[in-house]
Order: sequence, then C-alpha cells, then structure tokens
Amino acid sequence: MRVVLLGAPGSGKGTQAALLADELQVPSISTGEMLRQAVSAGTSLGQEVEATMAAGELVDDVTMAEVVRDRLQQTDAASGFILDGYPRTQGQADSLESILADMGCELSAVVHIEVPEAELVARALARKRADDQKEVIVQRLRVYRRQTQPLIDHYRSTGLLRVVDGHQTVDKVAAEILDALEVTA
Ligand code: AMP
Repeated sequence: MRVVLLGAPGSGKGTQAALLADELQVPSISTGEMLRQAVSAGTSLGQEVEATMAAGELVDDVTMAEVVRDRLQQTDAASGFILDGYPRTQGQADSLESILADMGCELSAVVHIEVPEAELVARALARKRADDQKEVIVQRLRVYRRQTQPLIDHYRSTGLLRVVDGHQTVDKVAAEILDALEVTA
C-alpha cells in the first residue's frame, strides 16, 4: 500500500501515519521529521532549510523532490509506505507522480484527515516545538490553506481521495482510516 496522508498542521496526521505504518508493516515517511533531523545534524540540507522551516514556510519543490526520491528508493519502502507531510503543493504532487512512475508504481490512496480550523489552532498551540510559536502556527495554517488544501480537490478528481473525520479520539480516527482503505484490522 502506498498512501499519502493529507491534513493541516495539528490534524493528528503524524500520529495516524505511525499507527497506520505499524498496522500495514510499511515505513512511515515524514518529510518534516527528515528535515528536522537534517537541521539538528547540521547537514548541508539542514542548513539550507533551517530558516524556511523556522518561518513556517515551505521548502522549495525541487529540494523536496530530491529528498523524497532518495527516501522512496530505499529498500524498506519497496513494498509500500505512508507519506506524512508530502506532497504539500501541486508541484510536489506532480513530482511524486513522476517519481513513482519511474519506480514502476503508483499511489493506492490519499487520506484527508479533516479537522475544524478552531480545533487545529487549539491543538497546535498545545504542542511544544521550536517552530510552534503562535505567529508561526498561524503562518503554517495559512500556507496549508493556500498551497496544500487545493490538493484535496486534485486527489478527489483522480479518484484516490478518502476523507476521514479527524475530530475524534486517536483510536476512532485510526479505525476510520483502516475502513477507508478497506483494510481489516
Ligand atoms: P511538518 O512536521 O510536516 O509540519 O513539517 C515541518 C516543516 O518542514 C514545514 O513547516 C516546512 O517548513 C517543512 N516541510 C516539511 N515537509 C515539507 C514539504 N513537503 N514541502 C515543503 N516543506 C516541507
């Protein structure tokens, strides 16, 4: 199974990606986590993206395509993966399609974890991470609305989209995702 999880910052996407990856026995690939690791390791990628991340802006599509291509080509992703935080722009969705086409495969489904905006702000404020100051949270939500939300319509039109109510307990959301993917737990 090759699955993309779409959801705003604070939608619980990371938590659900980990649970789903465990259930399906495939790696959960979080681009945000990969970039944070690069920043803390001080790699050239980390140095390149640090300020962009701190501002709550998106790293450019070309850089992200390289990161994702390298990661998806690793052997653990051969039988499937859960992508958490990628794609985030139409350009990235196009890149992902061509990366997968080069690998001779395609996405199985895109799951949108839907959470009301007010709940997102409350959740994001309760998190404690370096890039989680209030202005940055607001900016991240703005970027999501502008650049990532249009992907929902894109994937609806390709027939890959599954929508799940994210305003429920972690277990209920996880169960709904499995249902949406027609996986029996
Ligand atoms: P996340 O943990 O997924 O919220 O990502 C944290 C930050 O990493 C984002 O606010 C962006 O600055 C950067 N980032 C992660 N994934 C992407 C992506 N697919 N495209 C551009 N920037 C990204």
